[in-house]
Amino acid sequence: SGLKKHYPIKKGVFSSTVGTVKAVDGVSFSIQRGETLGIVGESGCGKSTTARLVIRLLQETEGSIRFGGKELTSLAPSELRAVRRDMQMIFQDPYASLHPRWTIERTLIEPMLVYGIGSRGEQRDRVLELLDNVGLNRSYAKRYPHEFSGGQRQRIGIARALVLQPQLIIADEPVSALDISIQAQVINLLQDLQEQYKLTYMFISHDLSVVRHISDRVAVMYLGRIVELAEKEKLFETPLHPYTQALMSAVPEVAGDKKERIILRGDVPSPAKPPSGCTFHTRCASCMDVCKTDIPPLKEVGSGQLVACHLYA
Ligand code: SF4
Ligand code: MG
Repeated sequence: SGLKKHYPIKKGVFSSTVGTVKAVDGVSFSIQRGETLGIVGESGCGKSTTARLVIRLLQETEGSIRFGGKELTSLAPSELRAVRRDMQMIFQDPYASLHPRWTIERTLIEPMLVYGIGSRGEQRDRVLELLDNVGLNRSYAKRYPHEFSGGQRQRIGIARALVLQPQLIIADEPVSALDISIQAQVINLLQDLQEQYKLTYMFISHDLSVVRHISDRVAVMYLGRIVELAEKEKLFETPLHPYTQALMSAVPEVAGDKKERIILRGDVPSPAKPPSGCTFHTRCASCMDVCKTDIPPLKEVGSGQLVACHLYA
């Protein structure tokens, strides 16, 4: 809640700060056990930074993160280590995140070694079980990452995320690097695993169709803030924020043929120089005077949708 990640911009190593990049600028949301929260937005909107804050790969500038009743921002390193076991991440490029000279077995045993889990024999058995879980042949345990296709590597990345039986899995663009046909297989696998192991997902993607398929609720981010958050059906049926409306109108299969394509003027402004007030005001066809000065709070409108826009004040 109230999560911020600001980076100072310095001119040269020793000079003073000349500005701030507001990568994440006041983000609040919750994820219920067993649900999938989709986070969607264009590159640079702060979705990956939000993920890295939640999983503690980054230190927040401000804000609070509670996980199962624990405040993570103030935990001692030893306590954090215990909590981190319950949160795992799946990355966009599994190849970059798999050790090239380790066999798949070694990669999957590593987390168990770190946490001192099981005997050698139990660890090997667990590897075989994990390969079964993600639909890979058991013989793959002795092979190396370069011997696999992108889809197979992502299955290995998923197996690695499952090793410690986490509660929450944060997937950051997990299928964006894969062919469309393979994307569907990996998404289906993630859904099967969720059901089987009662997993909770924070699923990040720039792809509305993918997010629509897998999410229960969806948050839309723009320039470091959530502009709309709603149950999937509501968001896709009646998007309220002008930015959400524009995003959806650009995807034919989402918008259907009845809706007109909304062309946004200009590019996304730099997070180092975000517009005042509503950061979308430079591109919004409905912009009013108040939009240039006042930040619209994310608040609930009639249908239970949360929206940050002065049109709904
Ligand atoms: Fe547009 Fe104003 Fe709403 Fe921002 S607050 S999206 S500028 S109408
Ligand atoms: Mg990203």
